[in-house]
Amino acid sequence: MREEATTKLRQSLRGQLIARGEADYDEARKLYNGMIDKRPELIARCSDVADVIAAVNAGRDEGLPIAIRGGGHNGPGFGSVDDGLVIDMSLMKGVRVDPASRSARVGAGCTQGDVDHATHAFGLAVPAGIISTTGIAGLTLSGGHGYLSRKYGLTIDNLLEADVVLADGSFVTASKEQNADLFWALRGGGGNFGVVTSFKFKLHPVSSVFAGPIAFDQKHARTIMQRYRDFLPTAPEELGIFLGLKTILSSAPFPEEFWGKPLCLLMCCYDGPEDKARAALAPLLGALPEPWFNWMSTMPYPAVQSMFDGLYPKGMQWYWRGDFVRTLPDAAIDVHLEQAAKAPSELSLMHLYPIDGAVKRVKSDETAWNCRDATWSMVIAGIDPNPQKAGPITRWTKAYWEAVHPFDLGGAYPNFMMDDEGAARLKATYGDNYQRLAAVKQRYDKTNLFRINQNIVPAA
Ligand SMILES: Cc1cc2nc3c(=O)[nH]c(=O)nc-3n(C[C@H](O)[C@H](O)[C@H](O)COP(=O)(O)OP(=O)(O)OC[C@H]3O[C@@H](n4cnc5c(N)ncnc54)[C@H](O)[C@@H]3O)c2cc1C
Repeated sequence: MREEATTKLRQSLRGQLIARGEADYDEARKLYNGMIDKRPELIARCSDVADVIAAVNAGRDEGLPIAIRGGGHNGPGFGSVDDGLVIDMSLMKGVRVDPASRSARVGAGCTQGDVDHATHAFGLAVPAGIISTTGIAGLTLSGGHGYLSRKYGLTIDNLLEADVVLADGSFVTASKEQNADLFWALRGGGGNFGVVTSFKFKLHPVSSVFAGPIAFDQKHARTIMQRYRDFLPTAPEELGIFLGLKTILSSAPFPEEFWGKPLCLLMCCYDGPEDKARAALAPLLGALPEPWFNWMSTMPYPAVQSMFDGLYPKGMQWYWRGDFVRTLPDAAIDVHLEQAAKAPSELSLMHLYPIDGAVKRVKSDETAWNCRDATWSMVIAGIDPNPQKAGPITRWTKAYWEAVHPFDLGGAYPNFMMDDEGAARLKATYGDNYQRLAAVKQRYDKTNLFRINQNIVPAA
């Protein structure tokens, strides 16, 4: 960027402009995924909408590639860009809860934990993911699934409105009433259409939950996966329950006798009291062997939302692949067990997150998020703190994915995709909605200014 333009942008911002060589640069460019090491030319930490407008205009006029950063959690590191401008939203954090209308206005720099903290004070919550440090922006724009999704839908199903700075620097609000085509596309189409500066969400009465992990010896995993598969359609929607194949970490708080042992996990969160949770789980647990441990207990909802935070701190190596899964035949279960047994590190995992209940009550063309006929969103993630394990965790994830993919649907949750999966994968993910997304992209960002993402190419 020309020096004069950099100076002008610096003077325009109430936030901070960080250039290469400046004191905060190396800290500011770090992403959650330690495998990604990008060196942007400039990082604009915006403090308000005016800052975002100035940054978009400067980046566009100077021809710099622009990345938008919410929580920086994205797998392939789309929150940053080599030699470009990062529009970093992390200072824009306010949350204003309106208990009367059960809604909240949320700054786009909030993490999920910021939102849970603010809404919990009112006994309210918005459905989101399972790690509190994830950015609400990136999570929402590509869908957002978590414990409350069976009862209350995806995060986007609870989005009422978004404020957006477009590629030409103009500011619009998108909702069902205003710019309805943009609002449709923002609900699943990722960061393709502009910089969202704030979201307005519908909230639900969620306060105390009965939640926690139930850990089984992985030698029983075939039975557990079969019973879980058959139980899920009958389970009350108050029960969020995902299945994991992983390893018990060799550290506290896990009992030392289980350290390093392969595990089959049922991670549960029941939105309601203990007696009802136990009754809801009884048909499943009654048909399973004794677990190694069952740590479910009554806790505030934000506690379950941050239960995994300590296990997955920022800066580890991550390589992941996802798929939408409709059915889980026994033959697929066998492949899962064979591949999971080869996990290259204790942290590596496979999770199956339910896509059912309220998620299915929204039609697939009602939002850009197409794959509502799936039953699960699967993720296989190779994870390790050691950069020298980057190769093995990547190879394991790819081999596992290739082995199970024939049993799965063509597309995947965009937030579980890397940047090496090709345009056909994204088209398969959006299915019948892809052409409509491309048309909205053409209308709002025809030069593809916002292309550091799972990119929707503007329609010709
Ligand atoms: C440990 C871990 C656990 C996870 N668990 C879940 C889960 O339970 N459920 C779930 O649904 N997902 C989950 N995810 C996936 C997560 O939703 C994605 O990684 C998501 O991209 C993170 O959003 P972010 O804002 O932190 O990312 P960033 O890296 O900051 O941004 C990601 C993308 O979002 C776009 N973006 C960000 N902010 C804006 C904005 N203000 N305006 C326009 N575009 C923007 C950008 O285009 C960027 O490409 C998890 C991820 C991790 C690492």
